Amino acid sequence: MELTTTQLNFPNIKLIQFASPDLLGSEINMCPVLLSHLNWIAGQIPGGIRITSGYRTINHNKSVGGIANSSHLVGVAADVQTLTSAMRMKVVKLAIQRCITRIGIGKTYVHLDIDREKEDEIIFLS
Ligand SMILES: [Zn+2]
Repeated sequence: MELTTTQLNFPNIKLIQFASPDLLGSEINMCPVLLSHLNWIAGQIPGGIRITSGYRTINHNKSVGGIANSSHLVGVAADVQTLTSAMRMKVVKLAIQRCITRIGIGKTYVHLDIDREKEDEIIFLS
């Protein structure tokens, strides 16, 4: 099956949220495998999920203080908003169920990342 990045394939998430704010349409750069995981996660949570950062251009990554080789630059990472401890737990648990093995914990979000070029099986502070 070929995965394509169209809204139809991912009914539980709004793809436009994954665009770098400085480049219209850039959500197309998101990895469909990650989108598929996020679509599934969103389907498990009443009210769904909100993405606070998906794909980033180099300029946008700089402006948000992202690391130089951020996985957001290649579309294999996304930040899911988690405003409560319970929501953080839910997102982490569901991500692990989908075998997402690079997880970052931020104050108001969880960073989920399937970057195969980086260390695997880790939870870091983001
Ligand atoms: Zn992130």
